[in-house]
Amino acid sequence: MRNPHAGEPFDTPDEEIAEALLDVSIPTLLLSLVHMSGDPGIIRGRLRPAGLFLNEVQGYMTEEDKAGARELALEVIRDYRDRGCPEPQPISAELLHEMMTWLVCEDVPEEYVPMLMEEMELDGRDARRVEPAGDPAARAAFPVVVIGCGQSGLLAGIRLQEAGIPFTIVEKNAGVGGTWWENSYPGARVDVGNHFYCYSFEPSDHWTEYFAQQPELQRYFQSVMDKHGIGPHVRWETEVLGATWDEDSATWSVRTRASDGTEDVLVARAVVSAVGQLNRPNVPAIEGADTFAGPAFHSARWDHDVDLATKRVAMIGAGASGFQIAPTIAPVVDHLTVFQRTAQWMFPNPNYHATVGPGVRWALRHLPFYGRWYRFLIFWPGCDKGLEAARVDPDYPDQQRAVSETNEFTRQMFTDWIVGQVGDDPELIAKVVPDYPATGKRTLQDNGAWLGALTRDNVDLVRTAIDHIEPDAVVTVDGERYPADVLVYATGFQATKVLAPMSIIGRDGVDLRELWGERPAAYLGITVPGFPNFFCMYGPGTNLAHGGSLIFHSECQMRYITRCLDALIVGGNRTMEPRRECYEDWHERSQREMRGLVWAQPSIEHSFFKNSAGEIHVLSPWRIVDYWSWTKEPDLADFVLG
Ligand code: NAP
Repeated sequence: MRNPHAGEPFDTPDEEIAEALLDVSIPTLLLSLVHMSGDPGIIRGRLRPAGLFLNEVQGYMTEEDKAGARELALEVIRDYRDRGCPEPQPISAELLHEMMTWLVCEDVPEEYVPMLMEEMELDGRDARRVEPAGDPAARAAFPVVVIGCGQSGLLAGIRLQEAGIPFTIVEKNAGVGGTWWENSYPGARVDVGNHFYCYSFEPSDHWTEYFAQQPELQRYFQSVMDKHGIGPHVRWETEVLGATWDEDSATWSVRTRASDGTEDVLVARAVVSAVGQLNRPNVPAIEGADTFAGPAFHSARWDHDVDLATKRVAMIGAGASGFQIAPTIAPVVDHLTVFQRTAQWMFPNPNYHATVGPGVRWALRHLPFYGRWYRFLIFWPGCDKGLEAARVDPDYPDQQRAVSETNEFTRQMFTDWIVGQVGDDPELIAKVVPDYPATGKRTLQDNGAWLGALTRDNVDLVRTAIDHIEPDAVVTVDGERYPADVLVYATGFQATKVLAPMSIIGRDGVDLRELWGERPAAYLGITVPGFPNFFCMYGPGTNLAHGGSLIFHSECQMRYITRCLDALIVGGNRTMEPRRECYEDWHERSQREMRGLVWAQPSIEHSFFKNSAGEIHVLSPWRIVDYWSWTKEPDLADFVLG
């Protein structure tokens, strides 16, 4: 069978190929040519990228070099086509490493190569898939309940199906997608490049934008679900109320309630929680909020029946969601007042709203491994560099301003980007340039839309704290009244209450959320002692503020979980849970690591990452390459098997 990443054979005429090449990432194209021609000389000459920056996919090549590369490409592609598009010969490991280094203009350390090779699947093999092993009857007798059908729950279903393990997914919504089902607010789009923010084992030649909007993302998860036949395994519009462990039968009883109120109990040998961290809206208790006379809703519960045209809208909160909402609704509303407690850091991404041209889609579909190298090109800049940059230098003098020299450099770069857009409006500059270290909260992608919206005549940015809400206005502590017909809460989620509001009762009647309090922890973010056969995806300590993608993390977690299930089924074990010392040591080390990173610094006053004591238990402080390697295979010595 042809390697699925070798591209579909084509007979495209020369002129159409030439047209397509006007659109593509030239450095990525040159690597595809090496596959087509088998000639490494293509990347050993003059044509080469000059540098790498996030989302810069042309490698800063000159127009002249790009034109030269296109000319060469046309020759190589024409020859490849005329030879009938044969599957390219495998390339040696040394040359692949050379190609990586060439593409990103820096050394790709040896320790990263196996992870990147796995992610790129140049051999056409989905290495994270776990094949059924052992007695099929034993697998069939091991039902698993998955909670949630967002990106991680859907992935869990796909992997369990491949592994021959029966499963039921319980999903509170009426459709697949989780975050991408719930967040339908105007302007919702992903901020990790889509050619990486998608499952590694699915094609990525269909995206119409580099950072797709919510409807397209939801359709993607729907199409993957349909392709893999996962839908029939899902109980839609059914909420998991809780789950209780029974020692005698070594099973979990998962209590559910459907939208019609019907309650049920599913008995499972294992539970996979795939509920995400950002799905319970945080609506601040503001005095008088219940007296507001007009429509009022949270960004994740957008009321599409409310026509915003000619309305005065007050938006409370402006983090990642508000940042996307404001520019989208500003041209429609009569007036928009944005109440922002803390200014946000943002960095330039000119591709943020860009469409993927037909030439790029042609290349993704037909040119051998073009899509895989493109995936790597987007992955690499977010691969642990952000973590290094987030490290605090305790000797750096002004910690309120920056936590290290690198961080100061980032501050200046981001400030230039912001101020460059605002021009000479000192009042606005004072409001929009943050007063805490750069990257200290989630840094936002920007193409100018946010500040463009704020400089409109019908938009006001208010940084003064809100005092109370009246039936037709929001009033700030300085007594200023801001009239409003509609109230939008873009105030984020209760991220620190991991697994809320479910009640998970483990061994000896221990309630997981009571055990955790405000300090949720799980070994590798996945397992907890006293909660046998209970596995978390996107659990405590696994949110990413420094790069990567949650889909990549989910794929790591689900391979680990499927292998744990194998250890139970094939190993003939009834239960597994992490050794307490492994769990405690993990949490202690994670906390120590986190304390040395920018997000945990006291200069960051408000952050949804922090609990009320200012500690961070939801984020990962670890390098992506380490997390990948730790989750490749469970070390059974870390577990108590029963
Ligand atoms: P968020 O980043 O937590 O922002 C919430 C906003 O509400 C902030 O401006 C916050 O102010 C404000 N706020 C919260 N409580 C408040 C209170 N009591 N009084 C006044 N203001 C208050 O939430 P989000 O914007 O929904 O984003 C959450 C996460 O979802 C993001 O970090 C990201 O992980 C994800 N997300 C991603 C995308 C994307 O991919 N493009 C889009 C949306 C969301 P402070 O800053 O002062 O706390």
